[in-house]
Amino acid sequence: MEASKRQDLLTLMADKMNRAVRLYLENCSRCGTCIDACHAYASTRDIRFSAVGRAQNVRRLFENYFRVTGKIAPWLNDAETLDEAWMDKLYETAFSCTGCRRCMVYCPFGIDTQQIQAIAKALLIGMDMDPKPLTMRARGEIDKAKNLELTRQKLEKELTGVKAELLEKYPSLEGKEIVPLDKEGANILFVSMVEKPSIASGAAILNAAGESWSLSYFEAVNFGAFAGNANMSEQIYGRIVAEAERLRVKELVICECGTAYRIMKHIIGKRSFRVISILELVNRYLTEGRIKLDKSSIEGTVTYHDPCQIARNSGVYEAPRNVIRAFTDSFVEMIPNRSENWCCGGGGGLVIAQEPEFRMMTSRVKADQIRAAGADILATACEMCLAQLKDLNDEFELETDVKLVSDLVYEALVFS
Ligand code: SF4
Ligand code: SF4
Repeated sequence: MEASKRQDLLTLMADKMNRAVRLYLENCSRCGTCIDACHAYASTRDIRFSAVGRAQNVRRLFENYFRVTGKIAPWLNDAETLDEAWMDKLYETAFSCTGCRRCMVYCPFGIDTQQIQAIAKALLIGMDMDPKPLTMRARGEIDKAKNLELTRQKLEKELTGVKAELLEKYPSLEGKEIVPLDKEGANILFVSMVEKPSIASGAAILNAAGESWSLSYFEAVNFGAFAGNANMSEQIYGRIVAEAERLRVKELVICECGTAYRIMKHIIGKRSFRVISILELVNRYLTEGRIKLDKSSIEGTVTYHDPCQIARNSGVYEAPRNVIRAFTDSFVEMIPNRSENWCCGGGGGLVIAQEPEFRMMTSRVKADQIRAAGADILATACEMCLAQLKDLNDEFELETDVKLVSDLVYEALVFS
């Protein structure tokens, strides 16, 4: 690697290292408590896929280039040189980590491996080694905001099918504005995945509650965040923030997309609107008696997979469970659950950036956990989890029916 390239990368690394990240890099005692916490290590017993093993690849660069000890006694802390071979190592660890932060729950110092891997991702972008399937999708999301008329035309095509489905299910919607767009002053801006299933279930719930709402032009998922590209991520969530502010909505409701929810809830800063997830909204409607669910429409036992970004990383544990209990008396918990739930193994964009073989190999503990729950239906609240859990269901022959909670709500919805 040329010296000037290395210097550019080290400048990028320095930019990423705020006070918290420096503490994470300086304070690991190598106690190893986090090792068994990572689903990838627990499934493979390969130390490269442990939290501490991953972090060491970044920490060794930190030792070499940002600490005095690395300069005078590099052998002391295994300081390493930033070169092409080390970049390959960074790729392997950064894009095998889902950013689930289960390791952080067990670390006595609360070291956040996800933030350490964000440094690795920044270096990979600087070296043009970012996963192109993620970056290309992120670019497509940004382009949507640049050509709003074309975006609207495509969305309206999708809405034709949605409206037909809802009218067939609920004839009382005839003559009503079933999926409003650009509704200024609406209470809610609903951000879906801009695909029929996600729009239909959300629209059914919002119509059943008699809500004043508008559908966002944009999909919730943020591929820039998965790629570790802060600039792209900001442009992607910025489209939705601008839309919510333009329409002066009171609440931004995010469909079942874990990363979108975490970004909107914790990263965009204080705004004129509140951010909630669709399941928090359903829980509220149920409490207020604005919607009703028919328990006879869902058959069999139901268990729930806590998506890392909604549960452990955002603290939403009870709302999805309350919603599930409103459509079934046969709810069984997976063990462990809530903050200690095993990651599905597909988060952090790995569903797209990694080969299925790798995702299956590193998620064996998740498959064991699902099998032990023995439920007929495995419900979750994140589209990425849904894709990975369906793959696990097929690969490990778990014989469960994997569904989003909102789809089960849609099935059980009593519409007057
Ligand atoms: S964030 Fe999750 S995937 Fe990454 S090292 Fe920690 S436990 Fe493993
Ligand atoms: S538990 Fe924390 S301190 Fe211990 S090895 Fe893991 S990251 Fe380091």
